[in-house]
Amino acid sequence: MADTYLDLVNTPLPARIAKALGLPRPSVLRRYTPGEVLASKPVLVAGSGPGADALAEELLGWDIEVRRHVLPGEKLSAAVVVLDGATRPTDLAAPMLELGQAVRMLVAGGRVVGVFRSSTDASGPTEAAARQGIDGAIRSVAHELRGGATANGIILRGDTTTTDPTTLGALRFLLSGKSAYVDGQFIEVRSAPAESIADLAASTTAAGEGVPDQPLARKTAVVTGAARGIGAKIAEVLARDGARIVAVDVPAAGEQLVEVANRVGGTALQLDITEPDAGARILDHVGRRFGRLDILVHNAGITRDKLLANMDASRWDSVIAVNIASQLRMNEQVLASPVFSDTGRIVSLASTSGIAGNRGQSNYAASKAGVIGMVRAQAAVFDGAGRTINAVAPGFIETDMTAKIPALTRQVARRLSSLQQGGLPVDVAETIAFLASDAAAGVNGQVVRVCGQNLVGA
Ligand code: NAD
Repeated sequence: MADTYLDLVNTPLPARIAKALGLPRPSVLRRYTPGEVLASKPVLVAGSGPGADALAEELLGWDIEVRRHVLPGEKLSAAVVVLDGATRPTDLAAPMLELGQAVRMLVAGGRVVGVFRSSTDASGPTEAAARQGIDGAIRSVAHELRGGATANGIILRGDTTTTDPTTLGALRFLLSGKSAYVDGQFIEVRSAPAESIADLAASTTAAGEGVPDQPLARKTAVVTGAARGIGAKIAEVLARDGARIVAVDVPAAGEQLVEVANRVGGTALQLDITEPDAGARILDHVGRRFGRLDILVHNAGITRDKLLANMDASRWDSVIAVNIASQLRMNEQVLASPVFSDTGRIVSLASTSGIAGNRGQSNYAASKAGVIGMVRAQAAVFDGAGRTINAVAPGFIETDMTAKIPALTRQVARRLSSLQQGGLPVDVAETIAFLASDAAAGVNGQVVRVCGQNLVGA
């Protein structure tokens, strides 16, 4: 499963040969390590207006060296372009051109983050054009960056400000190594209700000390499909962040499951999630041990690929049963129970196949697009009440699932993203940990792709 090409082109001679031949040269990504410094070099805050000024001021409080303009010859860790006041497409020119200068000075693994308002909330077509224009510009910058750098955006909904705690939570995530494989993405944020952000002040200050160590302390998290792959890594990362873990998987994976549960100091629950009472059994397990369920991660999933012309009912039905029908049923049971916290988080695994479609995966794409539909509808019900539900849509991630892809197709699939490599399970897990945290209290109904900005499809 190792990406030997990635390792090879990061050694001197093969790197030169790859360059001479015009072959892809993926960089080793900057990933989070405990105690990470968000920005070792200055961060540019481009843009004018009160929103940009306030954010620049805030970053100074994070112990970051802040620049309002690019200085000749000075390297930058990140560039944050604040365009929350853009009302006409012509307003984009000055800050975007400044960003162009900054991009030249970005260190390897650097970050570009655009902060702007939603076109959905615009007062008319001109303002909507300006706001939507930023989306296109930032996506394009993401395609242009090299050296493992990424470009993403934070979209402010309603009256949310550039320094709202949830804006800052998203910014911290996007600047950190935790978002290594998130590229060309936009996270919408809304001001969160006070009761849902009890620990938020603690988790968004003290930036100079790096990312807070235990943002999920005192929370109980259930992770389905936790015996291996992405699920095992989610369990590990949530536990690292302080959560108590209940690891769920089918009885046949019992041994691996217990291993994972022991490794993260959690408990194992052998359970087929397609059982009609799966939600009730999870609630019973959590209720008796911990009293409260804070985080539910619907990770368990299967593929049974076939062209639709050759599809049989058992392949179709099993994928729908595991990947979406079970989640709907479990959510119904969980949401009806007092064990599920008033500030509970549900994070569900979608897939880029569910967004763009994929040959041979009509059943899988139906299930994963279904997850997106479920998340959006449930989010509308939750809206503003403290609970959130979001989806993470991984692209090509190095796991047992993708190891089954024929070797040549796998090599090609790895290169078909702006970052020119597959992601790692930890990249998906970090995004889930962010969405499960108080810092994401204002993020609801979002589908965050962890795909290195796939070049194919949506
Ligand atoms: P995996 O096959 O390695 O692991 C899936 C786990 O789910 C296994 O431990 C399996 O036993 C468990 N599981 C399956 N059916 C179950 C059931 N009925 N009840 C309980 N547990 C069950 O898969 P992965 O690559 O780690 O993928 C995890 C999730 O991420 C899946 O939802 C998958 O669709 C999604 N995803 C993966 C990729 C990728 O590139 N690997 C891309 C997009 C989405």
